[in-house]
Amino acid sequence: MRKISADIVYTISGSPITEGVVVLDSNGKILSVGNRRDFDSTELEIYQGVLVPGFVNTHCHLELSHMKSKVNTGTGLIDFIKGVVSQRAAEAELIQEAIENAEAEMLAGGIVAVGDISNVPDTFVQKSKGNLRYYSFVEFFDFLQNKNAQVEFDKYKAVFDALPLAKGSFKSCVPHAPYSVSEKLFALIKEVNSGNTSTISIHNQETPPENELFLKGSGGFVDFYGQFGIDMSTFKPNGKSAIHYAIEHMDNNHRTLFVHNTLTTVDDISFAQNWNSEVYWATCPNANLYIENNLPNYKSFLDTNAKVTIGTDSLTSNWQLSILSEMQAIARFQSYVPTETILRWATLNGAEALGFDAELGSIEAGKTPGINLLYNTNGSNNLLGEDTRVIRLV
Ligand SMILES: [Zn+2]
Repeated sequence: MRKISADIVYTISGSPITEGVVVLDSNGKILSVGNRRDFDSTELEIYQGVLVPGFVNTHCHLELSHMKSKVNTGTGLIDFIKGVVSQRAAEAELIQEAIENAEAEMLAGGIVAVGDISNVPDTFVQKSKGNLRYYSFVEFFDFLQNKNAQVEFDKYKAVFDALPLAKGSFKSCVPHAPYSVSEKLFALIKEVNSGNTSTISIHNQETPPENELFLKGSGGFVDFYGQFGIDMSTFKPNGKSAIHYAIEHMDNNHRTLFVHNTLTTVDDISFAQNWNSEVYWATCPNANLYIENNLPNYKSFLDTNAKVTIGTDSLTSNWQLSILSEMQAIARFQSYVPTETILRWATLNGAEALGFDAELGSIEAGKTPGINLLYNTNGSNNLLGEDTRVIRLV
């Protein structure tokens, strides 16, 4: 049994506890949460800093770890995608080593669960070791080519079928993004998920040309597809922002995780939340800065009571895989977002989005969330300042 105490315990599900104590059994399960005055100090592990639950990273591409520092920053999403396509090939050993190191980085940084995108089976061996809990989203896309939908569906369904699940992990078949999934492929994905309780993730409104494609049928994606010889002659814009096209073809019986949302407006958020009561919004601020040099307007999400979660995206589009760094980026550039709100985004909201909230996401008796210490915090006023560091205690 361990009795761990720090200056403040952020339980997330309740109010912060000054000089709180978390009592855990040898498996990391929380037995009780109390206050230091009720314990003999000799039985406590006492730390300077604050305790928070283990972090949930709701958006990652572990399989892209080997391209760290290879794709240029600040080019915009379309040139970024070209960079990924041209530099993705590598020796299998290098890919595996990068995946292993990236997972170790997440574990050391206090991450306990990951929503991870798979297009190929490269991560499956590492995931099967069960070091982290994964929700693997196997992504389907056909570049809006209805005529290829069945062939592409079968290709990615085979990837999905090949993924073995470690204990406590999940998987689902998901659409990649509004700009890359045809109506027919959306229908096939909807059909394969019909009747199950999967979370469905989709990249959303990450770059201005994505909205332009659906609003006007023009812009960077039309040029991009043209360069690859992809026929866009039958594509008809619906005159609405990109998220509308996705929602028209998705199933509101599924918990849905929209990812990036850099250009998502209050109207878009309200539209989605009226469509489905279980909508979550993953933000990956450092990746948005890396690719587009832009951030979502978090005020829009606060004003609509949106359930925001935090992701790291991949090492191709980020400098590290650290939820603390993502929280620090939010606190640095949009400091009006309350610290406790950011902590909730990084923990309980993420656990709910991935269906892990019975065990993870908050410091409560009966849960096994992992315990992180945030230290070097320069007092509680600057909890997510640039000097803050994290260490995983449990
Ligand atoms: Zn992504």
